[in-house]
Amino acid sequence: MKIDGGCLCGHITYEAEVDPARVGICHCTDCQTNSGTAYGVVAITDAAQFTLLTGTLKVYEKTADSGTVRALSFCPECGTRIHATTVGEGSDFMGIRVGTIRQRAALKPRIQVWCRSALEWTRDLSDLPRFETQPNIDEMASLAKRE
Ligand SMILES: [Zn+2]
Ligand SMILES: [Zn+2]
Repeated sequence: MKIDGGCLCGHITYEAEVDPARVGICHCTDCQTNSGTAYGVVAITDAAQFTLLTGTLKVYEKTADSGTVRALSFCPECGTRIHATTVGEGSDFMGIRVGTIRQRAALKPRIQVWCRSALEWTRDLSDLPRFETQPNIDEMASLAKRE
């Protein structure tokens, strides 16, 4: 599947080829921290399938407990994370952050990994009140009081 995407500020744009069956959620603590949220969602592809169209990515290399070095690439202007690759010979594995893909609604995750560090509440969000947009502050306050 041909996809395209970019960062929040527009500095970075790209296109790529991904397999919709290779979309997953990663609950590892590195993904939690560097996404600033509960888990990472990535579309897996080969680095050769990714083409940067505009901008220059900044790269941060993180060594995992296993010794594997992951290169995390992000927009130097707005901080949006774009993709991660594994550093080393013979590795062309790339995980593109699904939230940056324009066609993301069509890329439903098929697998969850590193579940041992998953935040328990991510198992089921169906009981939480839902709003189509941001509710006003009074509505949010009244929900908090009901807890
Ligand atoms: Zn940006
Ligand atoms: Zn992860």
